[in-house]
Amino acid sequence: KAYPLSKDETGKVITVIEIIVDITERRKLEEQLRQSQKMEAVGRLAGGIAHDFNNILTAIIGYSSLLLGKIKEDDPNRHMAQMILESGERAAQLTQSLLAFSRKQIILLKTVDINEIIRKVERLLQRVIGEDIDLKIITPSRRLSGHTPLNLRGGWGELIVKADAGQIEQALMNLATNARDAMPNGGELIIGTETVTMDEGFVTAHGYGKPGKYALISVSDTGIGMDDVTRLRIFEPFFTTKEVGKGTGLGLSIVYGVVKQHDGFINVYSEPGKGTTFKIYLPITKEMVEEKRPAESFMETGGAETILVAEDDEAVRRLTKSVLSQAGYTVIEAVDGEDAVNKFRENKDKIDLLLFDVVMPRMDGKAAYDRIAEIRPDIKAIFASGYTQNHVAKKGVLGEGFEFIYKPFSPSALLKKVREVIGKK
Ligand code: ADP
Ligand code: MG
Repeated sequence: KAYPLSKDETGKVITVIEIIVDITERRKLEEQLRQSQKMEAVGRLAGGIAHDFNNILTAIIGYSSLLLGKIKEDDPNRHMAQMILESGERAAQLTQSLLAFSRKQIILLKTVDINEIIRKVERLLQRVIGEDIDLKIITPSRRLSGHTPLNLRGGWGELIVKADAGQIEQALMNLATNARDAMPNGGELIIGTETVTMDEGFVTAHGYGKPGKYALISVSDTGIGMDDVTRLRIFEPFFTTKEVGKGTGLGLSIVYGVVKQHDGFINVYSEPGKGTTFKIYLPITKEMVEEKRPAESFMETGGAETILVAEDDEAVRRLTKSVLSQAGYTVIEAVDGEDAVNKFRENKDKIDLLLFDVVMPRMDGKAAYDRIAEIRPDIKAIFASGYTQNHVAKKGVLGEGFEFIYKPFSPSALLKKVREVIGKK
């Protein structure tokens, strides 16, 4: 290769032009790519186990609750049923975490103000971190010392995004829990929000992102921080540096899954001894916050209506049937979506509510519902699932207005949901 050198007449080199290519940028992009591919693979694995697992757990939790209801208080065998129920619930929590990470959890998107969510969990966060750690919350409206003039609302005080508030709260809790663990001798936890615009420059410089406007939530602590080896692995499920029994390694996996499911981005800045900052970017939407409806309470749990239950898992179907019949409902069973459509045709005028599993062979719950809605557009329906598949509902998001119950559900949760939906106008 000829280097661009110039020599004098004696042949002595007088100038050399060197070209140095800065590859740090490319390294960063490669690292980002490897990282996201790894996360995809682990996510698919985790999500794969969870579906069947959820059906099994629904049966375990459901039948042990029913059993508990039949065993007398003073029966010495009672604690065995109690133990089955408790273990089932612990296992259910674990699957939920895995589903959250693998983005197979169904999320219900509503238009919400991020600042309001943060204000709402403030007390809870304070309780999580304890008294030795100071919690500082810096949201745009607070910068205006609490008295936001009306004409600045929506421009300053509010960060409107489409989000599942419960999931965002969960993510904040997990970050606060980690911050607490990183500050055993006290310190500061600072949560701030602001609006940022990502442009092409940002995307190139950071190796992630998509141009647009975002609500940025930063969560910083003054704790022990972490080195690069740790930092690269923190979002992996079951990765923990904590002692056995202290850490599960699922906290940040959940945060990661939640952020991704909201079409957002998460990044972490940290150095040993210098604290840690997590930055979460959620796409801003322009819509205004929905009016809050007052939470209604439903004391009633039973009824005399007729419910069409479609569920391919036999144990779950039989459980659902016995829970509903014991509460007074008439239950018509279907083993899949096609069967459900047929059973509906046969009993058209009797059926008051559909209770459909989302994922079923032959025809999934949503497709069966669509068919039935052609016959009776105002039919009420509840979908049940522990996870979702992309073809059923894009990215696990059922549109607003659909009623949903997570598997595994307890008999009382099922009855409450059924009553709530039947009671709706
Ligand atoms: P767990 O808290 O159960 O260990 P997480 O997924 O929540 O699991 O966190 C994984 C790991 O990331 C932790 O074990 C810790 O090493 C590191 N980590 C997370 N948050 C922080 C933080 N704020 N400061 C320092 N290290 C952290
Ligand atoms: Mg944690």
